[in-house]
Amino acid sequence: MIRAVDHVRSMAAYALADLGGSETVSLAQNESAFPASPAAIAAGQAALTQMPLYPDPDWPELRAAIAETHGVKAENILCGAGSMELIGCLIRAFSGPGDRVLGTDYGYAYVASATAQVQADYVKAREVDLSVSVDDILTAVTPQTRIVFVCNPGNPTGTLIPNTEVIRLQDALPEGVLLVVDQAYAEFADQDQNPTEIFELVDRGDTVVMRTFSKAFGLAGARVGWGLFPPVIEREVRKILNPNNVSIPSQAMATAAMQDQAHMCDTVTKTAVIRDQFAEECRALGLTVAPSHTNFVLIRFANVEAAQKADTALRAQGLLMRGMGGYGLADCLRATICAQDIMDRCLAVLKEVTS
Ligand SMILES: *Cc1c(COP(=O)(O)O)cnc(C)c1O
Repeated sequence: MIRAVDHVRSMAAYALADLGGSETVSLAQNESAFPASPAAIAAGQAALTQMPLYPDPDWPELRAAIAETHGVKAENILCGAGSMELIGCLIRAFSGPGDRVLGTDYGYAYVASATAQVQADYVKAREVDLSVSVDDILTAVTPQTRIVFVCNPGNPTGTLIPNTEVIRLQDALPEGVLLVVDQAYAEFADQDQNPTEIFELVDRGDTVVMRTFSKAFGLAGARVGWGLFPPVIEREVRKILNPNNVSIPSQAMATAAMQDQAHMCDTVTKTAVIRDQFAEECRALGLTVAPSHTNFVLIRFANVEAAQKADTALRAQGLLMRGMGGYGLADCLRATICAQDIMDRCLAVLKEVTS
């Protein structure tokens, strides 16, 4: 029999969302409710004529567009086939057997999976009131800790900690610990706190900031993420990256999407309006919904049975939210904010099951 290596055989497969079939609506993966910028779609279509060629391994136009928009240096940017690729490569480059990667209670599940791939141990620091707690992270750091992952705004919580807390964390971490700030949902919070404060953390040489086109830009299908890296970290991650990782149409779409900030901001605003109204209506039904700084809400039911009953009733109507048992939040469902008519259908079901 052909056998995989032991640590892969003992690994669980990454738990993907149940997306149902063609008749169902997915509220399970935090994809955008709105299409990408028309300029991005046109750029992707125009790029199809270049398909015999390999994509540029340096993503020059895309890096320039990101650098211009955010006032950062193009040479400090790495692009990935989704930020998942960059997260995986960082973990492979900076941790190995016996090392610890530290996340938080409700941190991104993919980090645990990527950590298992390198035979390092994934450890979680406690969150307090569904929010990242810098004090609890600092308490959980040990001499074995190589990387600390903080997701802000958080997924699946939707909560946001102030930039001052992330800055305090960087200040207090021991030397030699790499800090990764996953800002997959930051575009939904950029109007609340100055993004530059976090990008500037990279200058110290021990911090990486990660963003993606998969959420606010409506380009999950293109698989493009990016990160701001100190040169010493970037050099090592590059060795692990697939050298032609972002396809030509994806680079073209992401570039045009970055240049169309007005479209992205419009998506963020429209999503927030639907989100806040949906959250308010859920609260009126007696459900608990923490204020969200993302394109999803975490709905807490009276107990696990109530959450399961709601999930079953929603599924019967073809509405698939994400169960949270994997995060120890089995009394919660996470709902991606979709178009208004879909949220209205969800609310009607929730009304039924809570009455
Ligand atoms: C969606 C998401 C990402 C982005 O993944 P991509 O690979 O860029 O699509 C990263 N981190 C978190 C927490 C996310 O929810």
